[in-house]
Amino acid sequence: MSTVKDKKLEPMETKREFYQLIINGERTDSTTGGTFTTYNPATGEAVATVAKASVEDAEKAVKAARTAFDFGKWRTSPVNKRSRTLNKIAGIMRSRFNELVELEILDTGKSLAAAQGQVMQAIEDFEFYAGAIVSHRGSVNSMPGAFQNITEKEPVGVCAQIIPWNYPLMMAAWKIAPAIAAGCSVIVKPASLTPLTAIVLGEICIEAGVPEGVVNIIPGAGSEVGNYLVEHPQVDKVAFTGSTPIGKDIMAKASQTLKRVTLELGGKSPNIVFEDADIDAAVDGSLFGIFYNSGQSCEARSRLYVNENIYDAFLEKFIAKTKMLKMGNPFEKDTHVGAIIDRKQLEVIDGYVQSAIEDGAVIAAGGKEASVEGYENGFWYEPTIITNVNHEMKAVREEIFGPVVVVMKFRDEKEVIGLANDSEYGLGSAIWTKDYGRATRVSKQIQAGIVMVNCPFSAFPGTPFGGYKQSGFGRELCVETLDLYTETKSIISYYGGRPLNPFGI
Ligand code: NAP
Ligand code: MG
Repeated sequence: MSTVKDKKLEPMETKREFYQLIINGERTDSTTGGTFTTYNPATGEAVATVAKASVEDAEKAVKAARTAFDFGKWRTSPVNKRSRTLNKIAGIMRSRFNELVELEILDTGKSLAAAQGQVMQAIEDFEFYAGAIVSHRGSVNSMPGAFQNITEKEPVGVCAQIIPWNYPLMMAAWKIAPAIAAGCSVIVKPASLTPLTAIVLGEICIEAGVPEGVVNIIPGAGSEVGNYLVEHPQVDKVAFTGSTPIGKDIMAKASQTLKRVTLELGGKSPNIVFEDADIDAAVDGSLFGIFYNSGQSCEARSRLYVNENIYDAFLEKFIAKTKMLKMGNPFEKDTHVGAIIDRKQLEVIDGYVQSAIEDGAVIAAGGKEASVEGYENGFWYEPTIITNVNHEMKAVREEIFGPVVVVMKFRDEKEVIGLANDSEYGLGSAIWTKDYGRATRVSKQIQAGIVMVNCPFSAFPGTPFGGYKQSGFGRELCVETLDLYTETKSIISYYGGRPLNPFGI
């Protein structure tokens, strides 16, 4: 392990042909020399070659993170210094905004508008935690007589952070920013399909002055290096965003060493349009709620419930606008819906649509792989609306993670609350109504971590993001996330003049 201090990475282009691992403040090849290729899902073309971390590299990263945490200065550095460094990271990201957007689009095939919004949010996350950490503090508690109790917030330690492919840079920011603000060291395992922007973010952290070993980025197979980190006794916490089955596996394995675990998992979020809603706002918001990011969002509002009295009028407008959605060059600012992440995911999506058809549902729009002119080798799926469904169908119960919405009618508030809660998930939800009393009542009864009232957006820096039920636990993007990257230490002191003799002997 190198002992050179304050190493600086040589600046490199954001977009390049080869990306290395970041371990102990340095770019490095994989120990085994392994590499993999990352593709642009819009075109099917290769984007770059990436060093593929092996278990040996994961071990090196744990050692580097451990050394940085146990013996380094980051965790004991003044909070103002950490705050300043987070702001510096945000500053460098701002100065490279267009490059980060371009790289994110190339690696994911998402639309320009989506990538711009997500890169900006990633920047603002660092700015948010730069502020929040300054006032994150312990407490002084009331105690009898000459006793005193103070609590301190201490960083949890070495954190393994495993992230998915749908928002590669934003997810990396959601994980890294609060953890390093709190003084932890991190090992980030990006999704194999989309590792590029997370690697660049790791480089930016080091450029901004984060000491060696505090931020390590190791793209590699989840089943190998991800699993290795989850089982490693020197890792104190696992923060995972991804699918519910892998989340369950991680929780079970992490229990062997009683790691702290936070999980952001799947969803099947209800979107409820009441009779008194502003129909046009509800149509536009519902459209964005499911088709944003090509439906590859954990909080995609994929179950749409519309009051029976407005169902036909709503559906007509909703279908018409869905057919207006534009797919095509992701770099064009009027492209609404980008590509699907890969062929496998495209087949998963189509499998759900076919299952709905076999179950007797009706395809009201879309329903098949899209052919997009100029992008014939990419992976595209038509924005799809499915009607005539019931609550037992697979397409209604399971997360599809694509641009597919199922639409159902409801009679009244009581019925729709029952339907909304009839899911093993509980991440997002949306309500469209002009009745403030109804909005309040229904918000309180929905079993979900997030309720959007007349609002198409689910996340801003500072708003808690996370799920109920099998959508996981823990909240990200907010002040309380800092509690999940810290331990509370209780210090009890006695300042009485008379020595204490509890046994009385
Ligand atoms: P995934 O297959 O669960 O993968 C997520 C991450 O876990 C990837 O980095 C993956 O690595 C890694 N991984 C795979 N197997 C592992 C193992 N055995 N041990 C440790 N790590 C392992 O999920 P995905 O397909 O990438 O993402 C889609 C899912 O994520 C959806 O279900 C979605 O709802 C959920 N999601 C949730 C949120 C939220 O905030 N709640 C946000 C975004 C996405 P590889 O890439 O190498 O396989
Ligand atoms: Mg890619």
